[in-house]
Amino acid sequence: MIEFRGVTKRFPDGTVAVDALDLVVDSGRITVFVGPSGCGKTTSLRMINRMIEPSSGSISVEGTDIMSRDAAELRRGIGYVIQQAGLFPHRTILDNVATVPLLLGWNKKQARERAAELMDTVGLAPEMAKRYPAQLSGGQQQRVGVARALAADPPVLLMDEPFSAVDPIVRETLQDELLRLQSELGKTIVFVTHDIDEAIKLGDKVAVFRTGGRLAQYDEPGVLLSRPADDFVDSFVGRDRGYRGLGFLSSAGLPIGDLPTVALGDRLPSEGWALVVDGEHRPLGWVDRGSGPVDEAALVPGGSLYDAGSGSLRAALDAALSSPAGRGVAVDG
Ligand code: ADP
Ligand code: MG
Repeated sequence: MIEFRGVTKRFPDGTVAVDALDLVVDSGRITVFVGPSGCGKTTSLRMINRMIEPSSGSISVEGTDIMSRDAAELRRGIGYVIQQAGLFPHRTILDNVATVPLLLGWNKKQARERAAELMDTVGLAPEMAKRYPAQLSGGQQQRVGVARALAADPPVLLMDEPFSAVDPIVRETLQDELLRLQSELGKTIVFVTHDIDEAIKLGDKVAVFRTGGRLAQYDEPGVLLSRPADDFVDSFVGRDRGYRGLGFLSSAGLPIGDLPTVALGDRLPSEGWALVVDGEHRPLGWVDRGSGPVDEAALVPGGSLYDAGSGSLRAALDAALSSPAGRGVAVDG
């Protein structure tokens, strides 16, 4: 895990880019930093690999303060992907990817084999290997950037608006691929975006920043949608985009039959998800944590559960959409 403790960054001109940030990034998950332009997302991200040093506070990776580590050694364990893939224009795609294994001391043949493997991992066809960056689309270039960042097999991947410059349809595909990659490779990913839809789609947890580099809320997407901490988060996350009052669909990782059901006012039987039903056992919504009596404020409205094992996605969607508030569906997991 990556832990920020009271981290502030004040640039020499007096700008406070990040203000007293306390946050724990979970291992093996995707954590998204989201917020309006200039709110300190990039600065926060770059402090993790020491491209920017904090003015005060501390950051640790897997329990070790990053300032006590050699910067070059630290960065070998942290892949970094930015909006412009930053490829070498005069090298082929294969050689662009092979650069990192070569730097790590692999011989040329091994490095090229590793590069070919990485191209496959990120979904680049083998015939792309001989092309040059200018002969690739923006989306393909980003895949190369991801392949290169993965080359040293770092446990941590930092991604700064990697998909913001590609067109919306390709962006969706890249997002889906990232989710697939993550489930296969189990990296700890910190992903920066200004796009709340992207944040909700990708984040296991989402940190919403506000102007001035202050953390406004740090929660799972479902919680941000159903229980925004304040008006800023409320409007940034959804009020103006119409997310409020959506049906909610979750895989929840649970067989439907095993889910506890509770009524409003009941105590949650245990930590975790429960279906909230009315007197006639019709679903009212979901609750996902808490120990006190289930109240309406904690309820994720509407909703239905899709069990990938046995459930019908169509039926689950229909149920989510037919909830009283169901103008759309928020999907989790
Ligand atoms: P974001 O990535 O959320 O758009 P940044 O982290 O890049 O925001 O920037 C946060 C704030 O810090 C902005 O006000 C920006 O202008 C300022 N900033 C960033 N880098 C510097 C710098 N090197 N010197 C002075 N101010 C900076
Ligand atoms: Mg930025």
